[in-house]
Amino acid sequence: MRHVIALDVGGTGMKAALIGPDGELLHQARRATGRERGPDAVVEGILGFAAELSAYGAEHLDEPASAAGVAVPGIVDADQGIASYAANLGWRDVPLRDLLAERLGIPVALGHDVRTGGLAEGRIGAGQGTDRFLFIPLGTGIAGAIGIAGRVEAGAHGFAGEIGHIVVRPGGAPCPCGQAGCLERYASAAAVSEAWAAACGDPDADAADCAKAVTSGDPNAVRVWQEAVDALADGLVTALTLLDPRIVIIGGGLAEAGETLFTPLREAVRKRVTFQKLPQIVPAALGDTAGCLGAGLLAWDLLATTDSTEVTP
Ligand SMILES: [Zn+2]
Repeated sequence: MRHVIALDVGGTGMKAALIGPDGELLHQARRATGRERGPDAVVEGILGFAAELSAYGAEHLDEPASAAGVAVPGIVDADQGIASYAANLGWRDVPLRDLLAERLGIPVALGHDVRTGGLAEGRIGAGQGTDRFLFIPLGTGIAGAIGIAGRVEAGAHGFAGEIGHIVVRPGGAPCPCGQAGCLERYASAAAVSEAWAAACGDPDADAADCAKAVTSGDPNAVRVWQEAVDALADGLVTALTLLDPRIVIIGGGLAEAGETLFTPLREAVRKRVTFQKLPQIVPAALGDTAGCLGAGLLAWDLLATTDSTEVTP
């Protein structure tokens, strides 16, 4: 059966799949990224994992994979196929696309993890078929993917969508990016965890505990939560003023709070807009498989381009 290899490389784990033409998951596998072994070993681990998947497909699916898609974190030059930089993996300027193409003998597409996950959420997840969307995962940090007409905008230098570093509280909390008052410092799952741990006096309390306390009506938790929601709404209004998305898809750990997040967030955004059109604000649908599914889409897209080039006289 015709299929592609999809690989999502994270800071701690790698998720992989063999995916059929209609998005069928034919085989799935996971393993540790092993970043403690250093960047060269991580790259070798990726190549080896991909080669094993290739061998699995050739044996169990009657033919070798037609292409591979790989999503990696950090700064990615997708056009050149280069993993430019990832703080958590320690690599710099790894020509990952060519290395994989050489090892596997098939065409390879390289993508940025959040943009690749966004591609999947926009095309086959919560935004299925929508022409303009924003995908914003609220995790340790906050990132974003800008979906336009079936693809995700990377920007001129690969930095488009970095909504987490929109300054929402000028002069506020310092951010590792060098600015102060970034959205990420107020509305990421990590920021809410930190604020709630300080407010309730339990250093182990996290954002999920805060959401639970909000549900039970704890006024302290409600205050902490609302500060995060207000910051997020401020950042979102900036984004939708610029981009006018039809749908905003919120993912990551904080979105697991469900309506505890979405009801006040929709209300906070509604209160802020004047002339801007309100987008739908919805939870992500694909969870932590979005990056892997998106990597599969990159591979199929690559084949579609190659196939159409081949039939051109
Ligand atoms: Zn920042």
